Amino acid sequence: PAPGEVLLSLRGVSKRFGGLVAVDDVSLDVRQGTITALIGPNGSGKTTLFNLVTGGLPADSGEIWFDGRRVDGLRPWRRCHLGLGRSYQMTRLFDDMTVRENVVAPLADSRWRTMWADAVRGHEADRARDLLDLVGLGRFADQRAGALSYGQRKLVELAQVLMLEPKLILLDEPAGGVNPTLLGHITGVIRDLNAAGVTFLVVEHNIPLVLDLCDPVAVLAGGRVIAEGPPGRVREDPAVLEAYLGT
Ligand code: ADP
Repeated sequence: PAPGEVLLSLRGVSKRFGGLVAVDDVSLDVRQGTITALIGPNGSGKTTLFNLVTGGLPADSGEIWFDGRRVDGLRPWRRCHLGLGRSYQMTRLFDDMTVRENVVAPLADSRWRTMWADAVRGHEADRARDLLDLVGLGRFADQRAGALSYGQRKLVELAQVLMLEPKLILLDEPAGGVNPTLLGHITGVIRDLNAAGVTFLVVEHNIPLVLDLCDPVAVLAGGRVIAEGPPGRVREDPAVLEAYLGT
């Protein structure tokens, strides 16, 4: 889609766990070219919503559209193949493999590629190296992933997602547990990728960072979208203040 057009659209999406409605009739658009934030207090449904979008969980009702197609019935790997990328937790890195091998590894998971060992020797290895340069970790390409710091592992994770050439990246707490220096670097990489055409949907607890990096910002509380708009407006929204203060 052209910049500003809807890339991801949730329409009346709900998910229950027993009697609990974790995601309650959520309608939300992520537009091409944005860094859209999804914030909200603990337990408000952010992780569940991410899982509904990637296909880790089935929705009970509603529709999810991505890049002009309805995707809520598709398996996770199919959604991934269509360009819906998600950064997973760093626990997925293989400590005994090199950083570069880790960047290529997700291709082995995907059904349309096999034999990653061969791939490492070819084109994919070059691309992995380029992506590691892009996230500022080129000099670590041939070191063991186990030697990296927590924040560096997040950047490897981002390079892994990029290997699949996503149109949209769902980022799960990019700032969580990262020191301020590396945080500045991570946000710089996100901005650069965004300038190059990658759209982001970001779940993040660091509110000052969200207000600085993201536009628009959507706020969940109790599984519902209670506010949505430019950061300046959302910050002043009485319903948002109330949700965060728990009054
Ligand atoms: P957030 O990511 O905003 O902290 P979650 O999506 O993790 O919120 O959780 C939303 C609500 O759904 C919470 O009340 C949580 O306890 C509940 N929940 C999440 N996953 C499950 C599950 N697998 N089984 C039962 N309840 C769940």
